[in-house]
Parts: sequence; C-alpha cells; structure tokens
Amino acid sequence: MNRPERTAIYPGSFDPVTLGHEDIARRGLHLADRVVVAVAARATQVKRPLFSVEERVDMLERVFRDDEDVLVRSFDGLLVDFARSVGARLVLRGLRAVTDFEYELQMAQMNRELYPQLETVFLTPHPEYAFLSASLVREVSALGGDVSTFVSPTVLDRLRDRHG
Ligand code: ADP
Repeated sequence: MNRPERTAIYPGSFDPVTLGHEDIARRGLHLADRVVVAVAARATQVKRPLFSVEERVDMLERVFRDDEDVLVRSFDGLLVDFARSVGARLVLRGLRAVTDFEYELQMAQMNRELYPQLETVFLTPHPEYAFLSASLVREVSALGGDVSTFVSPTVLDRLRDRHG
C-alpha cells in the first residue's frame, strides 16, 4: 500500500549550523521522507545574529549538498504557516538538556494550539554533541578558540573569515 510522502521541518536559527544540527537533520530522515531545514529569518532567541539569513542558508546548503532529501529554506512569520506551506505535519527539535525542556514544551504546546495536526518530535543528540550550541561555537570562535570538531569545514572557513 502506498502511503503519502512524509515531510518534516527542522526549524532553528542555525547561526551557524553545527555538527549537532547536522546529526539531528539526518536522523530526521529515519522518521520522514524529506526534512526541510527551516531557517528563522526573524530569530526569537538570538538577538543579533552573526550571519545573515542568506549566509546561514548558504552554509546549510553546502553542508547538506550530498543529502538529497534534506532541503533548506528560510521562513518569516509563524512556523505553523511555514509547515502548512510545505505540507509538513512533523516538526523536529533537538533536546540537549533539561534547560531546553521548558522552552521547547511551551513552543510545542503553542504550535499544537495553532495547528493541531502538527506533531513535534524531539530527538536526543549524539552524546558527542550533547553540550554543543551555536551560541557556544560563536563565542569560542570569536575568542580565537578552535571549533573544528564542532562544525563542518565550510562553516569553519566562514567563522575564520568573520573572526580572523
Ligand atoms: P542553538 O540552540 O544551537 O543556537 P538553534 O536555535 O538553531 O540552535 O536550534 C535549532 C534546534 O536544534 C533546536 O531544537 C535545538 O535544540 C537543536 N540543537 C541545537 N544544537 C544541538 C545539538 N548539539 N544536538 C542536538 N540538537 C541540537
């Protein structure tokens, strides 16, 4: 029996994309036929982004160049509207630690109110990336630290361009 193709969205600010994000997006393909990485144009959490939306999308596209079922899009406005526009009924999020939990739960509940057919699914990170966040990568890189084990080479190049 044919079942309809399943699309998941993986939203975030991806400022910049880390190996933790890559891991979650790829493992999302175990749950869906296609994962749309959705870059929030108007970030709610990051106040002043390091990279523009275009730069973040560009890095993501390079990182997922060989993953044909991972697509990259930016979106502005409500996540539920974006989900509808790409026909997605699954939202993927990573849960690193309890500190992520409260915010994630609130957002998932709100999105359920706004679009009851949309399910939020939480994936746990690979232990190697459990402590990793884009903000930590930005901070360490800005201070001249080595982040080569946390981001892809293409992202590393951009960080070096930005921070010298
Ligand atoms: P960050 O929190 O790193 O700034 P985003 O806001 O772009 O990243 O997060 C997008 C999603 O990716 C969130 O669900 C977040 O929990 C998840 N995520 C971020 N880093 C990791 C990681 N190292 N492992 C698993 N999930 C992660």
